[in-house]
This record gives sequence, C-alpha cells and structure tokens, in this order.
Amino acid sequence: MQNTLHSQRCRLRINTAFAQRVQLWLNVAPPSAMNERMKNSWADLESQSIRQAIELWHALGSEEFISRTRFKESHRYVVIDRGQAIASKPLVAMAFQLQLGCGKDGPPRLSRGEQTRAILERLGYELVDIQGETPLDAPGLPAINVGPNTRFWWANQSVNFDPVYEDGTLWAPLRDRRGQQVDHWRTLDSALPGDLVLHYASPEVRGISRVATRPRPAYPPRGYNDVTPDTRGKLVLTDPLHPIRVARDVALAALNNGVGPVTASGTLRNGYVFPIEADSALKLLRQGGLEVTIETLEHQGVESKFSERYPGTPTDRLATVAVRAEQRFLRNQQLRRWGSRCSLCDRRLPEELLVAAHIKPRWACSEDERMDTLNVSMLACLFGCDALFELGYVAVDGQGSIERGHRSTDGVEDRVADIVGRPCRAHRDGSRKYFEWHRQYHAGTRS
Ligand SMILES: [Zn+2]
Repeated sequence: MQNTLHSQRCRLRINTAFAQRVQLWLNVAPPSAMNERMKNSWADLESQSIRQAIELWHALGSEEFISRTRFKESHRYVVIDRGQAIASKPLVAMAFQLQLGCGKDGPPRLSRGEQTRAILERLGYELVDIQGETPLDAPGLPAINVGPNTRFWWANQSVNFDPVYEDGTLWAPLRDRRGQQVDHWRTLDSALPGDLVLHYASPEVRGISRVATRPRPAYPPRGYNDVTPDTRGKLVLTDPLHPIRVARDVALAALNNGVGPVTASGTLRNGYVFPIEADSALKLLRQGGLEVTIETLEHQGVESKFSERYPGTPTDRLATVAVRAEQRFLRNQQLRRWGSRCSLCDRRLPEELLVAAHIKPRWACSEDERMDTLNVSMLACLFGCDALFELGYVAVDGQGSIERGHRSTDGVEDRVADIVGRPCRAHRDGSRKYFEWHRQYHAGTRS
C-alpha cells in the first residue's frame, strides 16, 4: 500500500503545482494574441515564454509535461536547466501554447531538430546535442537493462494478448467462482516495479514488458472478458518494451523443468502468472534477439555518467514509468469505450491529442472509486479543455451541461465561452457523483 500512498502524494503535488503555474499563464496570455492566434508562427515566440515553460517542466516532471504537448521527447537536442535535461521540442511547443494558445491544430509543425535549435538560439537558449552519446536510448536497438534485483515473470495470455499487452495490464480475480484463492493468480501480488514480464500467447513468447506499479484493487480492464465487469480483482500496470518472437519449444528448452510455467515433464503448465529464474529468463531473452545489459557494480561508473545528462535515480525513473503506464491505461480504456473525442468540446481528434483526465483525482478517491476507472476519468483535449476542467474554470452540472466555474475567466473567456452550455459526453449515471465532487471542490476553493 506504500506505493498507493506515494502516488497519491505525487498526484496532489503535481495538481497543486500545475494549478499555480497554469493559472499564472492563463491569466497573462494577451487578449490580442487570442484573437489572432491562427496567424502566429514560431517567430512570435518570446524568451519569457520559454522561461515559463521551463518552470512548468520543473513543476510537472518530464513525463507529465510532455504528455501535455503534441510532441514526443527528442533524444537529440536538450536544454539544460538547473542540471536537468529538458527535451527541446516539447519545450518550445509548451512555450508556444503558453504564450499564443493552441489554435485549432496546436503549434505549427516543427520539421527538424535544426528548426528547434534556431528558435531557441534566437531566444538566447543554448541547445545541447546529445546524439551519439546515448546508446541506451538509440531507437530500434532492442536492449534490456537488468539489475541485480530484477525478477522475471511468465504470463500466459493466449486468450487476450491483444489488446492487453498494448494497454499494459495484468489482471486477475481475487477469488474463483467457488470463492477460492488461486495460486497462479496470487503470484501477481509479488510483482514489483522494475520486474520484467515475458508474455506468452500460443504458440510463442510475443512480448516483454516492465512492471510499472504494484498490484491494486481493480475491476477487469479491457480484454478480460471471461468474467463479469463487477468482478473484484487486482491489477498490475506494465510498460510494454519490445515485441519478440520465441517459439514455445525454444522457450521451454531455455527454462528448467518443474519450475514456474514448466511441468516436470517439460510441457507448458496451465495457469496465468509464474515466476521464472533469472538465468533462464536471460537465456530466453537473448534467444529472442535482445541485447541484455546487466547493471552490476562495475557499471555504476557508466551509470553515474549517464545520470549527469539525465538526472534522476532509478527510483525516479520507475516513478515516471508508473505515471506513463497509468495514463496509457486510463486513456486506452476511455478511447475503446467512447471513441476519440474530447468529452468537453466534443471535437473528434487524433488519439495523441487526448488525455485521460481525472474527474475526481486519485488522491480524493476511496478504494472503490479508484477501481471505477471507466467512470472516474474522461478524455479531454490538449487544446485547453484538460486544464480548464482540472483547474475549475468550468464544471459540469447535475444534468450534464458544462457550466462556468468560480474562477475569473480574464484572459481565457473565449475558451470558456466555447464550451459552456454544451453537454458533457462523459456525464452519465456512473460518473455523476464524480462531477458533483469536482463542482463542490472547486466552489469551495475559490479565492
Ligand atoms: Zn476539448
């Protein structure tokens, strides 16, 4: 449960810090820029907006920050600030959003790293080119880092590998139909963040993922259709790393008989999740064509050199993996069920421009409410709806209509007016109480 408490605190910290920052910039955006935002180009970007974006990056953390722009992390050019490496494309994109709004399609396209360099250098920021120095991040190179304490798991998923591998979910009921606990379900309790999972879907091992969160109570996510939706279970979120292909016979030969998923006679055992021994797992991964890097004491020199460019302890990295896994999980559940639309402005948008927004934040949820993932969150777009709702500029009334919140809308009036009066797509019987909580909470905290 320590992990749950930790993530609650993180979420609270992020929310508060994010609220302060975003309030700052929403209120300072010049009205003239709002009216003419379609015409703005990168040439209009000002140095102070980069500074604001950098502050926001420090407040949110890298993953959360990048998830609020349409740009992916660039591994080539970064800006160094207070010893931290900030990916340059998301940085200029956020600065643009802060200063000039998003327009209909977000900031203009950034063709190449060179363009980002030119923009930042014009504004007095130096770009550091780190390409060629980070083989660990080289795209397309299938490499897996394994620490001395990494443990390995085998998951039989012939029934639902697609889509659960992509969603990053391992879920098992708490008890079977007769009320009994089942050993190969209970093994999920032992999964720890950082462990590696080999996913088997007949007739081969098809993927490898890293455990991102400790088990938590949950109803069955997408893809677990052999139980009723109200079945109580536990969920572990994972970060899919690489698709691989290792045929069953080859895999079984790498594993020891009578251990984990292999019977004494060398066949595959029925069941869900099994531990596998490290040396067997490593053999199997290498047979799958992966380069396995073992972090040992003598590698710590390399590790600390690496950390100078990418500060953050392994714990920090696991925390960002958990945030990313959580966001992917919630977003995919919403997308599959409700389609690719913003719940507030109702625009149909590419999936990457929508995020899973918590209607009632995790820190405020009871355990039951946290299990109610489909109702407790909704899809909101990156063009303002996510922030306007999260900060209480708008709320949703008992009938499901978007109404004004209690905040002053100076500087954001046109965006608020755009959506007030619309029906909120995510409002329904199951989510009404969460919207009501959001409305009351923001009415109570106005200042
Ligand atoms: Zn929207």
